[in-house]
Amino acid sequence: MTTPTSSETFRIDAVAAPVLEAVDVTKHFTVRDSLGRKATVRAVENASVALHAGKVVALVGESGSGKTTLARLLAQFYPVTSGQIRLDGTSAPAAGRGYFRRVQLIFQDPFSSLNSLHRIRHILGRALRVHGHASTKAEVHEKVLELLRRVNLTPAEDFIDKRPREMSGGQLQRVSIARALAIRPAVLLGDEPISMLDVSIRLDVLNLLAKLRDEEGLALLYITHDIASARYLSDEVRVMYAGQMVEGGPKEAVIQSPKHPYTRLLIESSPDPDRSSGGGLRDASGSAEDLGEPPSLTNPPSGCRFHPRCPFAMDDCRRAFPERTTFDDGQWAHCWLHQHGRSAELENSSGKDRS
Ligand code: SF4
Repeated sequence: MTTPTSSETFRIDAVAAPVLEAVDVTKHFTVRDSLGRKATVRAVENASVALHAGKVVALVGESGSGKTTLARLLAQFYPVTSGQIRLDGTSAPAAGRGYFRRVQLIFQDPFSSLNSLHRIRHILGRALRVHGHASTKAEVHEKVLELLRRVNLTPAEDFIDKRPREMSGGQLQRVSIARALAIRPAVLLGDEPISMLDVSIRLDVLNLLAKLRDEEGLALLYITHDIASARYLSDEVRVMYAGQMVEGGPKEAVIQSPKHPYTRLLIESSPDPDRSSGGGLRDASGSAEDLGEPPSLTNPPSGCRFHPRCPFAMDDCRRAFPERTTFDDGQWAHCWLHQHGRSAELENSSGKDRS
Protein backbone atom coordinates (compact mmCIF):
# COMPACT_ATOMS: atom_id res chain seq x y z
CA MET A 1 0.00 0.00 0.00
CA THR A 2 1.10 3.56 -0.61
CA THR A 3 0.21 6.93 0.81
CA PRO A 4 -0.19 9.49 -1.98
CA THR A 5 0.20 13.21 -1.51
CA SER A 6 -3.05 15.15 -1.29
CA SER A 7 -2.70 16.34 -4.89
CA GLU A 8 -2.69 12.72 -6.08
CA THR A 9 -5.81 11.64 -4.29
CA PHE A 10 -8.62 13.07 -6.40
CA ARG A 11 -8.52 10.88 -9.49
CA ILE A 12 -7.16 7.67 -8.12
CA ASP A 13 -10.17 5.63 -9.20
CA ALA A 14 -10.85 7.42 -12.47
CA VAL A 15 -10.44 5.26 -15.55
CA ALA A 16 -12.40 7.42 -17.98
CA ALA A 17 -13.12 11.09 -17.39
CA PRO A 18 -15.97 11.47 -14.91
CA VAL A 19 -19.23 13.07 -15.97
CA LEU A 20 -19.70 14.74 -12.61
CA GLU A 21 -17.34 15.11 -9.69
CA ALA A 22 -16.94 16.80 -6.37
CA VAL A 23 -13.34 17.79 -5.79
CA ASP A 24 -12.22 18.48 -2.24
CA VAL A 25 -15.62 19.95 -1.39
CA THR A 26 -16.45 21.53 1.96
CA LYS A 27 -19.85 22.83 3.06
CA HIS A 28 -20.47 24.81 6.24
CA PHE A 29 -23.90 26.19 7.16
CA THR A 30 -24.45 29.09 9.55
CA VAL A 31 -27.37 28.49 11.92
CA ARG A 32 -28.77 30.19 15.02
CA ASP A 33 -29.60 28.39 18.24
CA SER A 34 -32.71 29.04 20.34
CA LEU A 35 -30.97 32.04 21.99
CA GLY A 36 -30.13 33.58 18.63
CA ARG A 37 -26.42 32.77 18.82
CA LYS A 38 -24.65 31.92 15.57
CA ALA A 39 -23.14 28.50 15.08
CA THR A 40 -21.45 26.76 12.16
CA VAL A 41 -22.57 23.32 11.04
CA ARG A 42 -19.56 21.61 9.45
CA ALA A 43 -21.65 19.31 7.26
CA VAL A 44 -19.06 18.19 4.69
CA GLU A 45 -15.26 18.45 4.90
CA ASN A 46 -12.93 17.99 1.93
CA ALA A 47 -15.01 15.31 0.23
CA SER A 48 -14.29 14.04 -3.29
CA VAL A 49 -16.32 11.68 -5.44
CA ALA A 50 -16.33 11.03 -9.20
CA LEU A 51 -19.32 9.69 -11.16
CA HIS A 52 -18.74 7.90 -14.46
CA ALA A 53 -21.13 6.98 -17.28
CA GLY A 54 -22.56 3.49 -16.83
CA LYS A 55 -21.42 3.18 -13.21
CA VAL A 56 -23.12 3.40 -9.81
CA VAL A 57 -21.33 4.83 -6.80
CA ALA A 58 -23.03 4.08 -3.48
CA LEU A 59 -22.55 6.70 -0.78
CA VAL A 60 -23.17 5.06 2.59
CA GLY A 61 -23.23 6.26 6.17
CA GLU A 62 -25.52 6.97 9.10
CA SER A 63 -28.04 9.82 9.25
CA GLY A 64 -26.18 13.10 9.58
CA SER A 65 -23.04 11.82 7.86
CA GLY A 66 -23.25 14.45 5.11
CA LYS A 67 -24.47 12.16 2.32
CA THR A 68 -27.51 14.22 1.43
CA THR A 69 -25.60 17.50 1.69
CA LEU A 70 -23.00 16.20 -0.73
CA ALA A 71 -25.74 15.08 -3.17
CA ARG A 72 -27.35 18.51 -2.95
CA LEU A 73 -24.01 20.18 -3.61
CA LEU A 74 -23.66 17.96 -6.69
CA ALA A 75 -27.19 19.02 -7.71
CA GLN A 76 -26.26 22.71 -7.19
CA PHE A 77 -28.97 23.24 -4.59
CA TYR A 78 -26.52 25.45 -2.76
CA PRO A 79 -22.96 26.62 -3.33
CA VAL A 80 -19.87 24.95 -1.91
CA THR A 81 -17.94 26.67 0.88
CA SER A 82 -14.72 25.53 -0.78
CA GLY A 83 -13.66 23.02 -3.41
CA GLN A 84 -15.25 22.47 -6.81
CA ILE A 85 -18.16 20.70 -8.47
CA ARG A 86 -17.25 19.84 -12.07
CA LEU A 87 -19.56 18.71 -14.86
CA ASP A 88 -17.71 17.25 -17.86
CA GLY A 89 -14.55 18.80 -16.50
CA THR A 90 -16.06 22.31 -16.29
CA SER A 91 -16.69 23.98 -12.96
CA ALA A 92 -20.40 23.99 -12.15
CA PRO A 93 -21.05 27.76 -12.25
CA ALA A 94 -19.52 27.94 -15.74
CA ALA A 95 -21.77 25.11 -16.95
CA GLY A 96 -24.78 27.49 -16.70
CA ARG A 97 -28.41 26.42 -17.04
CA GLY A 98 -27.42 23.35 -19.03
CA TYR A 99 -26.21 21.92 -15.74
CA PHE A 100 -29.73 21.24 -14.53
CA ARG A 101 -30.56 19.29 -17.68
CA ARG A 102 -27.58 17.01 -17.17
CA VAL A 103 -27.92 16.39 -13.43
CA GLN A 104 -31.17 15.28 -11.79
CA LEU A 105 -31.91 14.50 -8.14
CA ILE A 106 -34.41 11.82 -7.11
CA PHE A 107 -35.82 12.43 -3.65
CA GLN A 108 -36.44 9.99 -0.85
CA ASP A 109 -40.17 10.70 -0.56
CA PRO A 110 -42.06 10.32 -3.86
CA PHE A 111 -45.33 11.36 -2.17
CA SER A 112 -44.11 14.89 -1.44
CA SER A 113 -42.00 15.34 -4.57
CA LEU A 114 -44.98 15.03 -6.96
CA ASN A 115 -47.95 17.43 -7.10
CA SER A 116 -50.95 15.34 -6.11
CA LEU A 117 -53.39 17.60 -7.96
CA HIS A 118 -52.06 16.82 -11.42
CA ARG A 119 -52.32 13.73 -13.56
CA ILE A 120 -49.16 11.86 -14.59
CA ARG A 121 -49.75 13.11 -18.15
CA HIS A 122 -49.34 16.70 -16.90
CA ILE A 123 -46.40 16.00 -14.56
CA LEU A 124 -44.29 14.26 -17.20
CA GLY A 125 -45.61 16.36 -20.11
CA ARG A 126 -44.60 19.56 -18.37
CA ALA A 127 -41.02 18.34 -17.91
CA LEU A 128 -40.88 17.40 -21.60
CA ARG A 129 -42.29 20.75 -22.73
CA VAL A 130 -40.18 22.95 -20.45
CA HIS A 131 -36.99 21.31 -21.67
CA GLY A 132 -38.01 21.38 -25.34
CA HIS A 133 -38.34 17.63 -25.84
CA ALA A 134 -41.98 17.74 -26.97
CA SER A 135 -44.34 20.47 -28.14
CA THR A 136 -47.59 19.26 -29.73
CA LYS A 137 -50.27 17.44 -27.72
CA ALA A 138 -49.75 14.25 -29.75
CA GLU A 139 -46.00 14.41 -29.29
CA VAL A 140 -46.35 14.89 -25.52
CA HIS A 141 -48.81 11.98 -25.35
CA GLU A 142 -46.45 9.60 -27.16
CA LYS A 143 -43.39 10.65 -25.18
CA VAL A 144 -45.16 10.36 -21.83
CA LEU A 145 -46.20 6.80 -22.76
CA GLU A 146 -42.61 6.07 -23.77
CA LEU A 147 -41.31 7.38 -20.44
CA LEU A 148 -43.80 5.26 -18.50
CA ARG A 149 -42.66 2.16 -20.41
CA ARG A 150 -39.00 2.97 -19.71
CA VAL A 151 -39.71 2.85 -15.99
CA ASN A 152 -41.80 -0.32 -16.34
CA LEU A 153 -45.17 1.29 -15.60
CA THR A 154 -47.07 -0.83 -18.08
CA PRO A 155 -49.49 -0.88 -19.76
CA ALA A 156 -48.55 2.80 -19.90
CA GLU A 157 -52.09 3.71 -21.01
CA ASP A 158 -53.36 2.56 -17.59
CA PHE A 159 -51.13 5.07 -15.74
CA ILE A 160 -51.07 8.18 -17.91
CA ASP A 161 -54.28 9.66 -16.50
CA LYS A 162 -53.81 8.62 -12.89
CA ARG A 163 -53.12 11.11 -10.12
CA PRO A 164 -50.33 10.48 -7.58
CA ARG A 165 -52.83 9.67 -4.81
CA GLU A 166 -54.12 6.78 -6.92
CA MET A 167 -50.69 5.14 -7.08
CA SER A 168 -48.48 3.13 -4.72
CA GLY A 169 -45.15 4.39 -3.35
CA GLY A 170 -43.19 2.18 -5.74
CA GLN A 171 -45.22 3.40 -8.73
CA LEU A 172 -44.71 7.02 -7.64
CA GLN A 173 -40.96 6.57 -7.30
CA ARG A 174 -40.98 5.26 -10.88
CA VAL A 175 -42.86 8.40 -11.94
CA SER A 176 -40.20 10.50 -10.14
CA ILE A 177 -37.52 8.67 -12.09
CA ALA A 178 -39.49 9.10 -15.33
CA ARG A 179 -39.75 12.85 -14.66
CA ALA A 180 -35.98 13.00 -14.21
CA LEU A 181 -35.47 10.99 -17.43
CA ALA A 182 -37.78 13.38 -19.35
CA ILE A 183 -35.03 15.96 -19.10
CA ARG A 184 -32.49 13.52 -20.62
CA PRO A 185 -29.91 13.72 -17.87
CA ALA A 186 -26.44 12.17 -17.87
CA VAL A 187 -26.42 11.81 -14.07
CA LEU A 188 -29.05 10.68 -11.55
CA LEU A 189 -28.49 11.42 -7.87
CA GLY A 190 -30.71 9.09 -5.84
CA ASP A 191 -31.12 10.29 -2.25
CA GLU A 192 -32.29 7.15 -0.40
CA PRO A 193 -34.68 6.43 -3.29
CA ILE A 194 -36.00 3.14 -1.85
CA SER A 195 -35.94 3.79 1.89
CA MET A 196 -39.59 4.92 2.09
CA LEU A 197 -40.87 2.12 -0.12
CA ASP A 198 -42.42 -1.14 0.93
CA VAL A 199 -39.75 -3.85 1.24
CA SER A 200 -41.50 -5.93 -1.43
CA ILE A 201 -40.99 -3.31 -4.14
CA ARG A 202 -37.50 -2.04 -3.26
CA LEU A 203 -35.84 -4.63 -5.44
CA ASP A 204 -37.96 -3.57 -8.44
CA VAL A 205 -36.74 0.03 -8.12
CA LEU A 206 -33.12 -1.08 -7.66
CA ASN A 207 -33.44 -3.21 -10.81
CA LEU A 208 -34.84 -0.23 -12.67
CA LEU A 209 -31.85 1.90 -11.64
CA ALA A 210 -29.51 -0.93 -12.71
CA LYS A 211 -31.24 -1.04 -16.08
CA LEU A 212 -30.78 2.72 -16.56
CA ARG A 213 -27.08 2.30 -15.79
CA ASP A 214 -26.56 -0.76 -18.01
CA GLU A 215 -28.80 0.05 -20.98
CA GLU A 216 -28.70 3.84 -21.04
CA GLY A 217 -25.23 4.49 -19.61
CA LEU A 218 -26.38 6.88 -16.90
CA ALA A 219 -23.98 7.80 -14.12
CA LEU A 220 -25.63 7.19 -10.75
CA LEU A 221 -24.99 8.24 -7.19
CA TYR A 222 -26.94 5.98 -4.88
CA ILE A 223 -27.23 7.32 -1.33
CA THR A 224 -28.17 4.81 1.31
CA HIS A 225 -27.58 3.65 4.87
CA ASP A 226 -28.30 0.10 3.74
CA ILE A 227 -25.15 -1.90 2.98
CA ALA A 228 -27.09 -4.76 1.34
CA SER A 229 -28.69 -2.55 -1.30
CA ALA A 230 -25.36 -0.75 -1.87
CA ARG A 231 -23.77 -4.12 -2.51
CA TYR A 232 -26.58 -5.15 -4.85
CA LEU A 233 -26.63 -2.04 -7.02
CA SER A 234 -23.27 -0.32 -6.92
CA ASP A 235 -19.92 -0.70 -8.62
CA GLU A 236 -18.04 1.45 -6.13
CA VAL A 237 -18.71 2.39 -2.50
CA ARG A 238 -17.83 5.56 -0.62
CA VAL A 239 -18.30 5.78 3.15
CA MET A 240 -18.98 9.04 5.00
CA TYR A 241 -18.83 9.65 8.71
CA ALA A 242 -19.76 12.98 10.32
CA GLY A 243 -19.01 14.91 7.13
CA GLN A 244 -15.70 13.19 6.37
CA MET A 245 -15.20 10.73 3.50
CA VAL A 246 -13.39 7.91 5.30
CA GLU A 247 -13.20 4.97 2.87
CA GLY A 248 -13.84 4.03 -0.74
CA GLY A 249 -13.13 1.55 -3.48
CA PRO A 250 -14.64 -1.32 -5.46
CA LYS A 251 -17.74 -2.54 -3.64
CA GLU A 252 -16.59 -6.08 -2.97
CA ALA A 253 -13.24 -4.91 -1.63
CA VAL A 254 -14.88 -2.42 0.75
CA ILE A 255 -17.60 -4.78 1.94
CA GLN A 256 -15.48 -7.93 2.16
CA SER A 257 -12.42 -6.26 3.63
CA PRO A 258 -13.18 -2.83 5.16
CA LYS A 259 -10.09 -0.78 5.95
CA HIS A 260 -11.73 1.75 8.27
CA PRO A 261 -13.15 0.86 11.70
CA TYR A 262 -16.34 2.80 10.97
CA THR A 263 -16.97 0.89 7.73
CA ARG A 264 -16.45 -2.34 9.63
CA LEU A 265 -18.96 -1.20 12.23
CA LEU A 266 -21.52 -0.31 9.54
CA ILE A 267 -21.14 -3.67 7.82
CA GLU A 268 -21.21 -5.73 10.97
CA SER A 269 -24.24 -3.83 12.29
CA SER A 270 -26.25 -4.46 9.12
CA PRO A 271 -28.78 -7.30 9.19
CA ASP A 272 -27.27 -10.47 7.76
CA PRO A 273 -29.07 -13.78 8.18
CA ASP A 274 -25.82 -15.65 7.44
CA ARG A 275 -24.15 -14.22 10.55
CA SER A 276 -24.96 -15.95 13.82
CA SER A 277 -23.06 -13.57 16.10
CA GLY A 278 -24.10 -10.01 16.87
CA GLY A 279 -22.64 -7.03 15.07
CA GLY A 280 -20.31 -4.43 16.49
CA LEU A 281 -16.67 -3.50 16.57
CA ARG A 282 -14.11 -5.25 18.74
CA ASP A 283 -10.64 -4.16 19.68
CA ALA A 284 -7.56 -6.36 19.44
CA SER A 285 -8.41 -7.99 22.78
CA GLY A 286 -11.77 -9.06 21.35
CA SER A 287 -13.92 -6.99 23.70
CA ALA A 288 -16.91 -5.30 22.17
CA GLU A 289 -17.00 -1.52 22.50
CA ASP A 290 -19.87 0.76 23.42
CA LEU A 291 -19.77 2.90 20.32
CA GLY A 292 -22.14 5.68 21.34
CA GLU A 293 -23.76 8.22 19.04
CA PRO A 294 -22.53 10.22 16.02
CA PRO A 295 -21.09 13.61 17.02
CA SER A 296 -22.61 17.07 16.70
CA LEU A 297 -21.48 18.77 13.51
CA THR A 298 -21.54 22.20 15.17
CA ASN A 299 -18.74 21.12 17.48
CA PRO A 300 -17.24 18.02 15.88
CA PRO A 301 -14.34 16.08 17.40
CA SER A 302 -10.89 17.17 16.25
CA GLY A 303 -8.81 15.09 13.83
CA CYS A 304 -10.61 11.91 12.84
CA ARG A 305 -14.20 12.57 13.88
CA PHE A 306 -14.70 8.89 14.64
CA HIS A 307 -12.15 8.92 17.44
CA PRO A 308 -14.59 9.19 20.40
CA ARG A 309 -16.24 5.96 19.18
CA CYS A 310 -13.19 4.13 17.90
CA PRO A 311 -11.61 1.32 19.97
CA PHE A 312 -8.29 1.88 18.16
CA ALA A 313 -8.04 5.65 18.77
CA MET A 314 -4.56 7.00 19.50
CA ASP A 315 -3.08 10.45 20.02
CA ASP A 316 -2.65 11.14 16.29
CA CYS A 317 -6.37 10.46 15.76
CA ARG A 318 -7.28 13.40 18.01
CA ARG A 319 -4.58 15.60 16.49
CA ALA A 320 -5.23 15.38 12.72
CA PHE A 321 -7.33 13.73 10.04
CA PRO A 322 -5.07 11.13 8.43
CA GLU A 323 -3.92 11.20 4.81
CA ARG A 324 -5.44 8.68 2.43
CA THR A 325 -3.83 5.23 2.34
CA THR A 326 -4.36 3.40 -0.96
CA PHE A 327 -4.30 -0.37 -1.33
CA ASP A 328 -3.46 -2.56 -4.31
CA ASP A 329 -7.01 -3.03 -5.59
CA GLY A 330 -7.83 0.68 -5.57
CA GLN A 331 -9.47 0.61 -2.15
CA TRP A 332 -8.48 3.48 0.14
CA ALA A 333 -9.09 4.68 3.68
CA HIS A 334 -8.28 7.61 5.94
CA CYS A 335 -7.14 5.90 9.15
CA TRP A 336 -4.05 6.28 11.28
CA LEU A 337 -3.88 2.50 11.79
CA HIS A 338 -2.49 2.11 8.26
CA GLN A 339 -0.12 5.06 8.64
CA HIS A 340 1.32 3.43 11.77
CA GLY A 341 1.65 -0.07 10.28
CA ARG A 342 -1.17 -1.38 12.48
CA SER A 343 -3.53 -2.57 9.71
CA ALA A 344 -3.49 -6.11 11.07
CA GLU A 345 -5.21 -4.98 14.29
CA LEU A 346 -8.28 -4.06 12.29
CA GLU A 347 -8.12 -7.26 10.26
CA ASN A 348 -7.97 -9.30 13.46
CA SER A 349 -10.66 -7.35 15.28
CA SER A 350 -13.45 -9.54 13.98
CA GLY A 351 -13.55 -13.06 12.62
CA LYS A 352 -16.97 -12.71 11.10
CA ASP A 353 -17.41 -14.07 7.61
CA ARG A 354 -18.88 -11.46 5.24
CA SER A 355 -18.92 -13.66 2.13
FE1 SF4 B 1 -9.97 5.06 14.68
FE2 SF4 B 1 -7.89 6.68 14.58
FE3 SF4 B 1 -8.56 5.24 12.44
FE4 SF4 B 1 -10.08 7.30 13.22
S1 SF4 B 1 -7.97 7.40 12.47
S2 SF4 B 1 -10.79 5.30 12.62
S3 SF4 B 1 -9.90 7.16 15.46
S4 SF4 B 1 -7.84 4.47 14.43
